[in-house]
Amino acid sequence: MENKKELRNWLDAYKLDHPLVIAGPCSAETEDQVVKIAHQLKDTDATVLRAGIWKPRTRPGNFEGVGALGLKWLQRAKEETGMLTATEVASPHHVELALEAGVDILWIGARSTVSPFIIQDIAEACKGIDNPVLVKNPINPDLSLWLGAVERFYTCDVKNLGVIHRGFSTYEKTKYRNIPEWQIPIDLQAKFPDLPIILDPSHIAGRRDIIQDLCQTGLDLNFDGMIIETHYDPDNAWSDAKQQITPDTLVQIMKDLRVRKEKGGTAAYEHALNELRSKIDITDELIIQQLAKRMGIADEIGKVKADNNVQILQNDRWNAIKNKAISEGGNVGLSSEFIDKVYSAIHDESINHQHNVGK
Ligand code: PEP
Ligand code: MN
Repeated sequence: MENKKELRNWLDAYKLDHPLVIAGPCSAETEDQVVKIAHQLKDTDATVLRAGIWKPRTRPGNFEGVGALGLKWLQRAKEETGMLTATEVASPHHVELALEAGVDILWIGARSTVSPFIIQDIAEACKGIDNPVLVKNPINPDLSLWLGAVERFYTCDVKNLGVIHRGFSTYEKTKYRNIPEWQIPIDLQAKFPDLPIILDPSHIAGRRDIIQDLCQTGLDLNFDGMIIETHYDPDNAWSDAKQQITPDTLVQIMKDLRVRKEKGGTAAYEHALNELRSKIDITDELIIQQLAKRMGIADEIGKVKADNNVQILQNDRWNAIKNKAISEGGNVGLSSEFIDKVYSAIHDESINHQHNVGK
């Protein structure tokens, strides 16, 4: 796909920078709110104003968006500030209304991406349009479903395609509202290096204090831009209040971000990078050897348990192992979420080994 180039050309035509910064409230609330925030954002790095008009809410009864009325507010904000506009469309009717009202960029919400039927309908309504369409990942961590949605738009001759990584839903309690599962956008970039990818740190975080960190990770992973929920009075926002930041915070975040070049170029850079990469390769080899050693011991334990007719899973022992690892990991700067994941995987594999020797 030549999408990245085409979107780049489109962005160039509008003199938009890299990284592309899309900012604005989760929801359009009132005309004054939309126009006011647009004026506050127009002199920041943000070149596109976002605002949800039709809001997908998990439970009914929450604010479901102002509907088509809000399109006029976006139009006014655009006229007064020169910012481009972006909104979520979730049906062919939304597409029709948004295009009629001159919305520049359409995005597809995570709850729509999960449904091939909905995506097909929206894609057909978008047939042949030049406006960029940004497809958010589905709420479940499924790369094929995400790519499938992108393909449906591509097949409908929508060329200015991009994706938005907004994290994945999980039942587990983590520091994120939607876990990033970075490997999925990394795999996506490996498969489609030309597909522009935008980070949505707001919906990954669900809180303000880790937005900056997420943006830095995104830039380090070659993301092309970010979409950040921004409100002049975040605490009183009508939706997603906890994760929205003020325009001032946005300015500060952009100032503090290190925008790295995709490729370094100089000999010294190549040398330093290669050296570090070899160190990583060596360390990875050691990790594999140690894991193999550990599984060898698990085999022996499995044998002892089988000989004595003792069940394999010993919950107390497993909890003790995990807690010790979390505490030791914490001492050397490894997060408890990470240790939890790694140790759960190691424990699963140990149990499989013990099963096999006990058969
Ligand atoms: C949003 O961008 O406000 C939104 C509803 O996002 P998502 O589809 O990622 O939940
Ligand atoms: Mn939101």
